[in-house]
Amino acid sequence: MKHKDSIHAISTQLTKLGRNPDMQHGFVNTPIYRGSTVVFNTVDDLENSRAKYIYGTLGTPTIESLETAWSEISGAAGTVLSPSGLGALALALLTTLKSGDHLLMTDSAYRPTRTFCSTLLEKFGVEVSYYDPLIAEKIVDLIRPNTSTILLESPGSQSFEIQDVPAITKIARAHNIKTIIDNTWATPLFFRAHDHGCDLSVEAGTKYLGGHSDLLMGLVTANAETWPALRQTYDSMSMLPGAEDCFLALRGMRTMHLRIKEAERRGLEIAQWLLEQPEVKQVLHPAIPSCPGHDIWKRDFKGSTGLFSFILHPEFEKPALEAMLDNMSLFSMGYSWGGFESLIIPFDCSEYRTVTTWAPGGLALRIQIGLEDMDELKIDLRLGLDRLNRWAHS
Ligand SMILES: *Cc1c(COP(=O)(O)O)cnc(C)c1O
Repeated sequence: MKHKDSIHAISTQLTKLGRNPDMQHGFVNTPIYRGSTVVFNTVDDLENSRAKYIYGTLGTPTIESLETAWSEISGAAGTVLSPSGLGALALALLTTLKSGDHLLMTDSAYRPTRTFCSTLLEKFGVEVSYYDPLIAEKIVDLIRPNTSTILLESPGSQSFEIQDVPAITKIARAHNIKTIIDNTWATPLFFRAHDHGCDLSVEAGTKYLGGHSDLLMGLVTANAETWPALRQTYDSMSMLPGAEDCFLALRGMRTMHLRIKEAERRGLEIAQWLLEQPEVKQVLHPAIPSCPGHDIWKRDFKGSTGLFSFILHPEFEKPALEAMLDNMSLFSMGYSWGGFESLIIPFDCSEYRTVTTWAPGGLALRIQIGLEDMDELKIDLRLGLDRLNRWAHS
């Protein structure tokens, strides 16, 4: 796997980027620089900012290592960091929107992003409306004179629709509208958002970059045209993650390609196994043909990761589902994902969708495949489905 503008394959890049042993006494990794104050030697240096680093909020070697490495693997002009994925989405939206603007947002967006828009952005006079994630070039009909931003997320949170990103960004560009994508699921390793025309791309580093369920982090990358505005938004708020978290993100980056390739292999194996279980009505996994937008996934993505959903047959109701989920032994119930442990949660998009109908015809579950033994994971799921059956037919 080699990105078009790099001389090295991605795996080599991930080992080389963002560190300089010559600058750190030969030690392999960039250390944790903690610091607010940077001191200057002369008045002239102080008054003319003649130093590589000026003040802690404006950057440290640890922060800069992560930013430059992430820009390189994303094919971006620049990166800013945030203490959470949601914080990164807020930074991106505050960069392209102002009072009086209109935001078009996919109905499949991560729910807290919707909440940010419908509470904070509306309070500051931004109009927010939603569109069908599968709309593709027909989005042109929803553009208003004051539309300044389109927010995409592909695949959609929980429901996994793959969007026609190039079709939407092409129309946005023609109308002078900025595009922001939440690219957390695929990461820049499997979907190069800027190559597909997105101006800003957001990654919740909390997921596959951290990779161990012990880090909260967000990253926003920008193309050359949008980079100065993004950096200005960031500098005006100084909402930055702590030094130790930047170090953990850099550490996670070194093995990220191995982890997501393994997540892909495992996710696909369990998705295919689930398709064969009689209790399962549908599997929503971008690499499986029954997923809405599968053909676009094949066209645009370099791979799939370890998070997907599946739908049960309608005969199974909530109490049966509780009997299944309350007694799992390896799968835990929890939000977030991208760590080493397997997770499963029930969900219902109809609680918040506004312009599309979520009626999958059965209870829905989202699953994240971790690094446990595959046969043991299948046994845990099979026993869970047996409990579901027993409850439904008792
Ligand atoms: C988890 C997640 C986020 C938010 O990340 P946090 O670090 O938890 O704030 C944003 N978008 C998607 C798609 C996510 O899965």
